[in-house]
Amino acid sequence: MARYGMVIDTRLCVGCADCVVACQAENDVPIGYCRDWITTEVRGEFPKLALEIRSERCNHCDNPPCVACCPTGASHVEPLGRTVQVTANRCIGCKACIAACPYGARYVHPDGYVDKCSFCLHRVKEGKDPACVSVCPTRCMHFGDLDDPKSTVATLLRTRRWHTLAPEAGTKPRVFYLT
Ligand code: SF4
Ligand code: SF4
Repeated sequence: MARYGMVIDTRLCVGCADCVVACQAENDVPIGYCRDWITTEVRGEFPKLALEIRSERCNHCDNPPCVACCPTGASHVEPLGRTVQVTANRCIGCKACIAACPYGARYVHPDGYVDKCSFCLHRVKEGKDPACVSVCPTRCMHFGDLDDPKSTVATLLRTRRWHTLAPEAGTKPRVFYLT
């Protein structure tokens, strides 16, 4: 069974936010909210400093605290790609998952349920990439099966240096940033 993940080359990201706009259009994200966003961070040690620009979203963690704390099962691991998903009509809006996520990846939709990145599973089922990946003008984002050694994502993780966000949280995130 596949284990979907994303690998993003921070050396190629120019911070244009096309991924954010594409996600909002694809997933009907209400104005003023977002499922993905751009972060900038100065990394390294003086004098070897570099500005890293990152497209961030839910990390579809291997060890997701948002799923463990959900009282209704609305937040769950989907068999397809073992991604973390929210079933809107099972969500009671208690926000336990928002408190549990170390990445700020979730928001309360104006309709009362919690929403976040779905890795565009509806597109993936049709053989397409997530919307953000498909529109990136620098092709800095890659999506695929981390457990398939021949996949682009697995190859990049074998051949490039990378980091994940807040690894100390123990969530085992599946969005990787190439440096
Ligand atoms: Fe859950 Fe947050 Fe991890 Fe996404 S990034 S799976 S919302 S803990
Ligand atoms: Fe589950 Fe919804 Fe509560 Fe989050 S807000 S923990 S998805 S019931």
